[in-house]
Amino acid sequence: MVKKQEKIFGASAPKKTCTDKKCPFHGTLNVKKESHTGVIFKKDIHHTATIEWFRPYFIKKYERFEKRRSRLRVHNPPCLDAQVGQEVLALRCRPLSKTKNFVIVKIIECKK
Ligand SMILES: [Zn+2]
Repeated sequence: MVKKQEKIFGASAPKKTCTDKKCPFHGTLNVKKESHTGVIFKKDIHHTATIEWFRPYFIKKYERFEKRRSRLRVHNPPCLDAQVGQEVLALRCRPLSKTKNFVIVKIIECKK
């Protein structure tokens, strides 16, 4: 039987449904608390996306902050289908492939 979750950490299920096993809303995937927010800058086939975000990093010698970038490969379920430029919330899950350990659960806003 397919488990149906209505809400995951405040993110409600999208209106569209899908048959993806790796979908946290319509599949059998469980998510964990660890989360990251980033903007999608690349979208691949097989429901994969890459998100990036910037964080300040303090350099003691110059007493200033520099901008450091973090990137993460995430699963993009077909029911959400986030596009390039959208800000999304990704939560940790079981390893989905060699590089994917996170799944998108919510589209926060469109930046472009
Ligand atoms: Zn789905």
